Amino acid sequence: VGGTDYEKFESRFQSVPSTVLMKSIGKSVGVTVNVVEAQPDGQILRTEEKKRQDKDIYPCPPPDPSVLVRRSPVVTIMGHVDHGKTSLLDSLRKTNVVEKEFGGITQHIGAFSVKLPSGEAITFLDTPGHAAFAAMRERGANVTDIVVLVVAADDGVMEQTQQSIKYANNAGVPIIVAINKIDKPTADVEGTKKMLLQYGIAVEDFGGDVQAIPVSAIQGTNLEKLREAIVTQAEIMELKADPVGKVHGHVIESSTDVGRGRLVTAVIERGTLRKGDLLIAGTAWAKVRQMFDENRKPLKEAPPATPVEITGWKELPSAGSEILQAASEAAIKEAIIWREHQLFREKENQIFDEIQEKQNKIRDVYVLKRDTNRLAGYFKRSQPKKKESEAADTSPQLAIVVKGDVDGSVEAILDCLSTYHSQQCRLDILRHDVGEVNTTDVETAQVFNGDIYAFNVKVPSDISKLAKAKGITIREHNVIYKMIDDIKDTMVSRIPQEE
Ligand code: GDP
Repeated sequence: VGGTDYEKFESRFQSVPSTVLMKSIGKSVGVTVNVVEAQPDGQILRTEEKKRQDKDIYPCPPPDPSVLVRRSPVVTIMGHVDHGKTSLLDSLRKTNVVEKEFGGITQHIGAFSVKLPSGEAITFLDTPGHAAFAAMRERGANVTDIVVLVVAADDGVMEQTQQSIKYANNAGVPIIVAINKIDKPTADVEGTKKMLLQYGIAVEDFGGDVQAIPVSAIQGTNLEKLREAIVTQAEIMELKADPVGKVHGHVIESSTDVGRGRLVTAVIERGTLRKGDLLIAGTAWAKVRQMFDENRKPLKEAPPATPVEITGWKELPSAGSEILQAASEAAIKEAIIWREHQLFREKENQIFDEIQEKQNKIRDVYVLKRDTNRLAGYFKRSQPKKKESEAADTSPQLAIVVKGDVDGSVEAILDCLSTYHSQQCRLDILRHDVGEVNTTDVETAQVFNGDIYAFNVKVPSDISKLAKAKGITIREHNVIYKMIDDIKDTMVSRIPQEE
């Protein structure tokens, strides 16, 4: 444990009783926590980074521009519910030439590639909606190059349309608008374009640079135009990738297939994936056994921007995980131990947080209960006594006003007194407060015939004179236990001596 972790740990450790801490941690994770000297943050980070470099597998530095080649764009379809995202993906998938050879069977694998007559290809992520997009982004996966924003022409810009615009803008991903359902008599393409303008999307007709294609997903109208728009946008972006470096990609989906076992749909972003390659994704790894395209056609290799189904996984990685190629199984195993250790630390931190939260709750309840009791006691004691009971109550008692320099000292004094119970002499705390002894203190003491105990605070000379005039004793202390002893001694002195 080091650096900021150490500080976190230390602050928690101080406020959590060690027995509770060790029991909880021990029970949950079965380890001993070693505390080491805190070091300056930068140093810790450098050490951590060095350790990671030694043990983990991480992305290679950016490639030499000379090796880069053009690659296909990766597109995500977003938009409001029911505006036709799924229908559009289905139509786009159906137009896939290769798929037609397979009798038009459409299957969902998380991503598919559409080949155009010109030879170009577009990769679509087959998980519509911003939830999937956001989940990927949260894991730092910037897989998407272009967002196709589906807006139904009979409905216009709705809540999720706006959210999608926000997501795309935040991720710096350009948008192409597919104005859908133009086959409907209620479709209002121009109105939809105007509405988009209100949300910062200026389409080409309105002098902006966002392409907007009116389409009908159901009837397949203008899908060709939509694909062309995507290709044009991709050309502007000059999308390039390194086909020769070590493989780097992302998991789009993982599943277990009845015939093929553990299966991961991935988009390769760098390098060319081949059979036998060793891959790590999170704490899962694979020796690539087979690769398939979206039509289950075996692939020999998967270059950048290709969606590919990969078998050979020892465990299933989660969607969004980064896939990296490793040099050897030994390197993978070391990296997995390191990564599991990191996860373990995250879990450990989470447990610390949970314990801290519980502790705070318990303390709050305790403080509330204590304050309520004190307040109730104070009010009870502050009530002027009834005449008849006044006469009756002749038992020894000491009434005091407690003053202290800070909250902490007053609390500490009250805590000590709360543990002291005398059968023979009752102790009444009339008032407790932080600050110099003042007129109110003297007046309170006078009404109840009490004494004033002042801890580490000044007694101004006029107050001192006032107290003297009224016959009130002010006792000053600067050591808590001496003050407590003094109070106890005074109580004892009030108990009548037996003959
Ligand atoms: P999603 O929620 O955005 O994925 O929307 P869906 O693709 O599930 O479509 C919602 C509804 O709109 C379905 O009933 C579709 O049949 C219908 N729909 C989608 N596209 C079109 C279209 O181009 N024209 C018409 N008339 N209906 C469409």
